[in-house]
Amino acid sequence: MAKAITLLESTRPDHRAQADALLTGLLPRAGRSLRLGISGVPGVGKSTFIEALGLALLDQGHRVAVLAVDPSSSVSGGSILGDKTRMERLSMDPRAYIRPSPSSGTLGGVAEKTREAMLVCEAAGFDIVIVETVGVGQSETAVAGMTDMYCLLQLPNAGDDLQAIKKGVMELADLVVINKADLDDAAATRAQAQITSSLRLYGMHRRPAHDHRSPLGHAPGLAGVAGAGEAGSERGEHGEGAHRPFWEPRVMRMSALKGEGVDAFWRAVTEFQALQRANGAFEEKRQQQALAWMWERIQSGLKQQFKAAPAVRGALEDITARVLGGQLAASTAARELLAKFSGDRNPEDSKD
Ligand code: GDP
Repeated sequence: MAKAITLLESTRPDHRAQADALLTGLLPRAGRSLRLGISGVPGVGKSTFIEALGLALLDQGHRVAVLAVDPSSSVSGGSILGDKTRMERLSMDPRAYIRPSPSSGTLGGVAEKTREAMLVCEAAGFDIVIVETVGVGQSETAVAGMTDMYCLLQLPNAGDDLQAIKKGVMELADLVVINKADLDDAAATRAQAQITSSLRLYGMHRRPAHDHRSPLGHAPGLAGVAGAGEAGSERGEHGEGAHRPFWEPRVMRMSALKGEGVDAFWRAVTEFQALQRANGAFEEKRQQQALAWMWERIQSGLKQQFKAAPAVRGALEDITARVLGGQLAASTAARELLAKFSGDRNPEDSKD
């Protein structure tokens, strides 16, 4: 498994060809796991929780893989989730497999590698794949876009400052878990009530399924890199699946440290899974995710090709300067550059 995943993470073109052949070969055996996304800010208790849950699931006869999407790893080379001492007991158990985040490339690239690693784990017989991410950047959207169920961990004081909880992320959550309830029971209860009512509010304004943005949002890069204005343009192209007629998002309390609430969490997950599979939502979501993924990768690949095309490179500096200087409208500039790009690709067509 480690070798297969290393091959998938390689950027060498000959490795990529082998990796694609490997993926095609694995695919008939992949897809049979429950894919569970878990996110939360550093320190909220993700590793404590995943270890407690993972060990309990092993006891029930499951095989558990834990993968991570850590956007910090691609920016700084340092990783929030990469620490080797995490989940010590789970990582030592031969029935579990834990892999840190791929550490290079854009968020889109890191997410792609994780998505592929997930297929390897499934083909190797892991029936539960947990994909973990930190609550920074757009990694949450990426993880929600590759999992069947998405869970958000919060601290007991989260309810005091609902502004701190990004609405977009909250909307993705099928389950919100208030962890560390043992520290402040009153605060946890308050947070549970506040988050429950705000989820209801979001639910009322939820758009129909076809009107949600793609699982990766609009940007393969990190938060702040892409203009927020792009977000709307992608809506409607890919379904997201946050609209779930079969499920009202729930808010639970937990103490991962004491192991309290872990059983209840798992009961909610199995209930969700049963409902999702009973009414066809499962298949539909997986299909939408696969297609959205394909389009996201096409977009990212095209952008790379565009920037590398000689005619574009030759003109980019001048055109950029004219846009900055106010002599050329941004949309005209884009059309000119796109024409150069297609001219580069089809020299016969553009001789006139
Ligand atoms: P992560 O960064 O989200 O993976 O968080 P960790 O699992 O590493 O937990 C951060 C700290 O919070 C550790 O010292 C944990 O022991 C502690 N912690 C985790 N869950 C709980 C909990 O339910 N209650 C309390 N009191 N502490 C917890």
